[in-house]
Amino acid sequence: MRDAMEANCSALREAVANCIGASLPQADPPRDPRAFFNSAACRPLKAEVIRSGYKLWERQYVEGNGGNLSARISPRHVLCTPTMLSKADVGERDLCLVNLDNERIEGHLRQTSEIRLHLEIYKALPHARAVIHCHPPHATAYAVAGLIPQGNLLPEQEVFVGSPAISPYETPGTQAFAETVLPYVRTHNAILLTHHGVVCWADTPTHAEWYVEILETYCRTIMLARQLTPNLTEFAPAKVAELLQMKKGLGLPDERFGEAPSPALAAAPAEDLVFADLLQGQDGRPLFAAPEEVERLTESIVARVREFIRESLVERQ
Ligand SMILES: [Zn+2]
Repeated sequence: MRDAMEANCSALREAVANCIGASLPQADPPRDPRAFFNSAACRPLKAEVIRSGYKLWERQYVEGNGGNLSARISPRHVLCTPTMLSKADVGERDLCLVNLDNERIEGHLRQTSEIRLHLEIYKALPHARAVIHCHPPHATAYAVAGLIPQGNLLPEQEVFVGSPAISPYETPGTQAFAETVLPYVRTHNAILLTHHGVVCWADTPTHAEWYVEILETYCRTIMLARQLTPNLTEFAPAKVAELLQMKKGLGLPDERFGEAPSPALAAAPAEDLVFADLLQGQDGRPLFAAPEEVERLTESIVARVREFIRESLVERQ
């Protein structure tokens, strides 16, 4: 009787362990960038990039195949949207994986021709994790006019974006164009690209899309306000200082702070492994169970089932 129960328990143990293993994406976290890109663990980030691209299209910040998005998954690897596809039509399978040398590692479509712009930003800022380039009409109108919008007029703009930089014109898609933003990326998270559009970088694709929205709404609002009165009164310096204090707390760059490297920059990992936070669920718990964790869960389930069977047998007697 006891032997039969032990035999049943080992069968049960195996079944439970298989079940737990199958319900997890895999036992070992895919720390290699290519393995991560092809794993289920990358799906939330891919979905975030696609959703952010769809928001750009919905808000009419991209036209035709214009605009592009990327998210960095390791110090040297970036996933990005492909060339010649509307941001309304991008699916998970269409995304590409490239390295900082612009070599395509994965993806059946060619990477966006503007990826060089993104890669220059990632190279300059080890803590940059997402870049978005697009053509929102009102911000682009400033870029076409070669003008920076007047500052200190709306709190959201000062806290999240501040005064955008404006980079000189170069032919889109070229390395020369990509490098035009380099003098500004350490002190700005939003740059107007003369005769072209805007580029924003952030810690996540969602936040980069927010900065685009905030900048575009700001430019549109300033244009409307100017129609009401040509002279717009700015916040008092003390109020500007309060907003900048909030901005500092959020760890966002601003030319008024100078070029001090952020703590995240100093902490950038040297190894080319997938960033640890991408291997965690939204609640901060690991998406992948270590073999010991699978064993622990299995033993606790088997022990409970055993207890249940024993109690049932006692009741029957
Ligand atoms: Zn463009």
